[in-house]
Amino acid sequence: MRAGIDGPVTFRARHVVPMTGPPIEGGCVGLDHGRLVGVGRRCTAGRTVDFGDAIVLPGLVNAHTHLEFSGLERPLVADGGLPGWISHVVALRRGRTAGTDDREHAIAAGIAESAAAGVTTIGEIATAVARSAGPAAACRVRVFREALGLSDIASREVPRTVARDVARLQSSGACVGVSPHAPYSVAASLGRSVLQEARRRGIPAAMHLAESPAEAELIDHGSGPFRDLLESLGAWPDVAPQLLPAADWISLLARGPRGLVVHGTFLDDPALARLARHRRRLAAVVCPRTTQRLAGRLPPLQRFRGAGVRVAVGTDSRASNPDLSVLGECRALVDGGLAGPEEALRMATRDGAWALGFERLAGVLAAGRPADLVVLRPSRAWSDPHEAALDPTTQVVATLRAGRLVHGTLDLATAGSSRSRSR
Ligand SMILES: [Zn+2]
Repeated sequence: MRAGIDGPVTFRARHVVPMTGPPIEGGCVGLDHGRLVGVGRRCTAGRTVDFGDAIVLPGLVNAHTHLEFSGLERPLVADGGLPGWISHVVALRRGRTAGTDDREHAIAAGIAESAAAGVTTIGEIATAVARSAGPAAACRVRVFREALGLSDIASREVPRTVARDVARLQSSGACVGVSPHAPYSVAASLGRSVLQEARRRGIPAAMHLAESPAEAELIDHGSGPFRDLLESLGAWPDVAPQLLPAADWISLLARGPRGLVVHGTFLDDPALARLARHRRRLAAVVCPRTTQRLAGRLPPLQRFRGAGVRVAVGTDSRASNPDLSVLGECRALVDGGLAGPEEALRMATRDGAWALGFERLAGVLAAGRPADLVVLRPSRAWSDPHEAALDPTTQVVATLRAGRLVHGTLDLATAGSSRSRSR
């Protein structure tokens, strides 16, 4: 754990990008006791650290990932699209040795990698919760306890386990949510129970929806690649489960305080219209590089935008993505012609924070908020800070969460500033 910054401090940089308005050229942010005390051109907090030719952004938000796979060096094979990839995920999970700390180590590695990539806030899907579960040190994490199962037994037992874990997490001070996995892996009664628990506790819920065309085939006809996969895994019960289409899950998610529709790549028009109707409670989360890998296309950002739906961005896990860089996801959207740099960064900050129910804590630089921020240093000549932030050669100099340095350095000699001064 790294030490906090002693006393009040002012950060200066060529551009401060608060995400509440236009970038501030020659801007500054003041920090004191872990909070921002000023954002603008004049800040008077304590000593000054001038980062020079750098950009200060709100800490980035990774709205959807599964940190348990962060130890993987490369993504799993994706032949056969999503159903084929899932068979490799299940084999990986089943191959883990019980009683080892592999999962905990992977989660810690994922949080460290995230901090190094400028991420301070994470929406994490957790298949299990360690007894020692507590708030993660480096990042602000919303832990969505996952639920899945198609059998009657699962519908009776899984909601109890989820409720127990959610209570345990909440009592340890963690920020919690629930996540019925997906329409092809969650029986209607199980999903309803888990979402009812979320409503009762006033916590957000996330669900993978319309991630593959095979999903609708299973729901509509009870057949296709998912049926074959579930049977081969021994997960398809003797009595066919009641499954719900994406549109019905969207209605159920909308009964809670905040819901995240993850992917939504193949949502049909009625389902999209329903998502749009509930846009004050629901957001979409896109994971561009994962969608490209598993569905062979980029996310339908234009459709979400046209429907007025707020969109956050996530990396998904290292089982489907080479790293946990949110800037990398933004770059994929921009390079694919789906969004401009400013819009992509808004998705990765303000809109991501809203999706996770952290809109009062994260996503923008504003006085009174926790000092969650990232300092970036472009290595090429630049004029627009949004574009420069997404340049692949731009470095993360420092990441702070609630005023605490969680990655990098404030030592400007080490940071390589050309016109640094510190007093
Ligand atoms: Zn996912």
